[in-house]
Amino acid sequence: MADDKVYDVLIIGGGPAGLTAALYAARSRLKTVVLERGMAGGQAATTNKIENYPGFPDGILGPDLGQALEKQAANFGAEFVQTEIEGVDLSGDQFTVKAYEGDYKGRTLILATGADPKKLGVNGEEELRGRGVSYCATCDGAFFKDQEVVVVGGGDAAVEEALFLTRYAKKVSIVHRRTQLRAAPVIQERAKANDKVAFVWDSVVDEIKGEKHVEGVVVKNVKTGEKTTIPAAGIFIYVGLVPNTALLKGQIEMDAQGYVRAGEDTLTSKPGVFAAGDCRQKPLRQVVTAVSDGAVAAMAAAKHLEEV
Ligand code: NAP
Repeated sequence: MADDKVYDVLIIGGGPAGLTAALYAARSRLKTVVLERGMAGGQAATTNKIENYPGFPDGILGPDLGQALEKQAANFGAEFVQTEIEGVDLSGDQFTVKAYEGDYKGRTLILATGADPKKLGVNGEEELRGRGVSYCATCDGAFFKDQEVVVVGGGDAAVEEALFLTRYAKKVSIVHRRTQLRAAPVIQERAKANDKVAFVWDSVVDEIKGEKHVEGVVVKNVKTGEKTTIPAAGIFIYVGLVPNTALLKGQIEMDAQGYVRAGEDTLTSKPGVFAAGDCRQKPLRQVVTAVSDGAVAAMAAAKHLEEV
């Protein structure tokens, strides 16, 4: 049982930010634990190949990077617990995280909770989730061999994952609400040069159809209002992220979108609590900025412990 343990550094989230914070904290000989509900690496672990993390000229698979980061932190004594968090209490001198199996207490707390895929909120999305509706091409792409799929969104994630899906699907239609992609130029070029990728511009998803499994995606042209149905066995939704900060509401300052207010120093409105990675208000959400935040947060936590 975890109730009687007080950690120097309690970290919520085992993505690149949380795991790097663990590495730096454990290496500073601080008693450190990472609480993570899924697999090591967080969102990055759901990415097939990460091409823009420096030091890996041939790219690195997301799950491999997650495992390597965890192993590196474990080598210095960081602990890892896979658990679902039910509540966070920042009111006392020590911070409490309530998990199913008991409470975890920390003298400092690093929030590295990341962000989850944003939902479209259309009919069929919830009903057919896991039956053709997916938010993770790396996890589910292989189910769609020689079938047609739709990808929604125009950002890095949508276009990169659409390209990944061409390994399996015979056709990938990218549905985007404008005529210009937001994705990095190099990714756009690859998608436009790929014969399996089709673009459905100026369009949003109106409904996802299917009885037991996705059978088609109804899209609406935002300029003409015209609706058409794209026959598809799967739909992969990449329309941005929502920060995982619901449990912190009212206890710490956040912006209107729910990102934790903290600068490059990772200091939040609550002394002793630090925010690192995608859950923090920041201009660039990348693995490289997440690991940087993790290191800064761990060092800030160490400094805080010296001062209290
Ligand atoms: P994003 O950059 O926020 O892009 C979201 C896309 O979805 C945009 O094209 C947006 O359209 C569209 N969209 C938003 N709401 C929509 C709605 N309700 N209906 C239809 N379309 C909607 O999100 P992301 O691609 O998931 O990426 C998240 C973060 O991770 C970004 O910072 C990104 O750079 C990063 N990332 C980086 C890489 C990489 O560097 N290789 C890979 C993956 C993710 P508009 O363009 O019209 O706004």
